Amino acid sequence: MPLDSLYRAHGFVPLDAPTDAERLAVIDLDAVEHNVRRIKTLIGQRSLIAVVKADAYGHGALEVAHSAVAAGADYLGVVHVKEAHALRSGGIAAPIIAWLHTPRTNFAQALEDQLELGVSSTWELEAIAAAHRASGQKEPVRIHLKVDTGLGRNGVTMAELPALAAAARRLEEAGLLEVVGVFSHLAVADEPERTETAEQSSTFDRALEILHSAGLRPTLRHLANTPATFSAASVGAEEGLLRDAVRVGLGLYGLSPLTGSTPEELGLRPVMHLQTFINTVKEVPAGQGVSYGLNYVTDKPTTLALVPVGYADGVPRVATGGPVRIYPATGPARTYREVGRIAMDQLVVDLGEPGLADPAAGFLGAPAVLFGSGDNPPVTDWAEAAGTINYEIVTRISPRVTRISVGGSWKDKN
Ligand SMILES: *Cc1c(COP(=O)(O)O)cnc(C)c1O
Repeated sequence: MPLDSLYRAHGFVPLDAPTDAERLAVIDLDAVEHNVRRIKTLIGQRSLIAVVKADAYGHGALEVAHSAVAAGADYLGVVHVKEAHALRSGGIAAPIIAWLHTPRTNFAQALEDQLELGVSSTWELEAIAAAHRASGQKEPVRIHLKVDTGLGRNGVTMAELPALAAAARRLEEAGLLEVVGVFSHLAVADEPERTETAEQSSTFDRALEILHSAGLRPTLRHLANTPATFSAASVGAEEGLLRDAVRVGLGLYGLSPLTGSTPEELGLRPVMHLQTFINTVKEVPAGQGVSYGLNYVTDKPTTLALVPVGYADGVPRVATGGPVRIYPATGPARTYREVGRIAMDQLVVDLGEPGLADPAAGFLGAPAVLFGSGDNPPVTDWAEAAGTINYEIVTRISPRVTRISVGGSWKDKN
């Protein structure tokens, strides 16, 4: 049976599946497409900017981008011009916006790739204008001005916005660029009860007025990230957050940014599944210390199972008690807890009773899933175990883990 069907049938990749990957991040592209359609339903006629920065939060930017576009994403969003270039090189023709630059950013390449550029300061405008002049290109560069409405990070301050707007307008009149968009990023949208989001939204309105006075007419106004998109849609009251377009990252990957809402409750399907196979199963007495520091000591005779992934694979070393679902060859699957310190290459699970090292128990070589969809542990449990957010857990899964995609309607057509 092909790997796709095996994965779908079992909720894990069996040992005899047609792959030699020992540590796998299975990426469910059908789930990406489902999530994109779900988000499109929430936003109606507005545009979806599918955020695939950071290798699509660790999921593989090119395949996710193809899936997002196939399912109706209008734009792709990345941070670096280099990330956008990789998408163009991989055959992505959809509009792409990139918004974080340094004095070394290759704007000439950005123009060649027909990118739309987020701009937060005058030096960026000047560098883009210079690249345009040098290119001899006729069409103006499409610009989205980024305003800091309260996040205190990237984006022009309200105080400096009039000067930036005037500079942009001059370059627009000179035919070098066109301000097609304006955007801002929210600071606390994942805490819908906080009032700062509404304040940022009204500051955004003031920014729009400033741009208007400067003679600029951006038609794509975008403010909302995943939490704002979902809370605006469910609460209804904050519809104003959705504007002309939303920039959604986490939701594409089927994860919930809202404490208290599971992906399923938001109508999303988790995309990444992290799996390996049990490499050692051993009987130990009471009093056995486990892993560096011997921080965990068994309190009774038990069986330990060794899971061959660690912090070099992106499993956070600071995590304690992260879940691992084991699918023994015989007997039912169960979710166990990781014990002791997570090492570079391995972590240990206490199976909770003696006698399981017997090969008849089926643990040696058994599929072990750290997180995934369905009955597998949610990414959020690892985030809690590590004192971080689900965004970081998936994004930091390292290149040592083989990405294997399943599904993807666009693949059939090629
Ligand atoms: C990463 C990012 C997003 C996406 O945020 P999610 O919470 O993952 O939806 C949107 N806008 C900007 C500016 C970002 O940097």
